[in-house]
Amino acid sequence: MGISNLVIADGQQYGYDMTMIEGHRSAERQDSLSSGVTQAKGYQSYHQYGLAADCAFVKNVRIMTNPKDPWTMRGYRLYGEVAKSVGLVWGGAWTFKDYGHTELRTPQAKYAMSMARKGNYRTSIALAAI
Ligand SMILES: [Zn+2]
Repeated sequence: MGISNLVIADGQQYGYDMTMIEGHRSAERQDSLSSGVTQAKGYQSYHQYGLAADCAFVKNVRIMTNPKDPWTMRGYRLYGEVAKSVGLVWGGAWTFKDYGHTELRTPQAKYAMSMARKGNYRTSIALAAI
């Protein structure tokens, strides 16, 4: 929550109004998302640890997420720059593009996700509950 607010506040200096689409996401919801949306399963995304946010732009009371729209794409690039400047990882830099996504990678969450990928969920569940 605090992370995305920081990026959103910085984004406003460029004349973009932003909103958060999703922050914390349960493992059950993560599992319900299709492979076209995400490649991560439950406890394999920073969303489960409250360390990721999906944001979008607001223009004329509409949520703008289409990267083919030049205004939106310019916003995403600025969003990525702002995110990087405050130490976040931006999903727009990935091969599997996720332009609205930013995350804060902590050693604890990295460890929890590595355990989840191995099928050991105890650490992951405990950390996600904090
Ligand atoms: Zn996301």
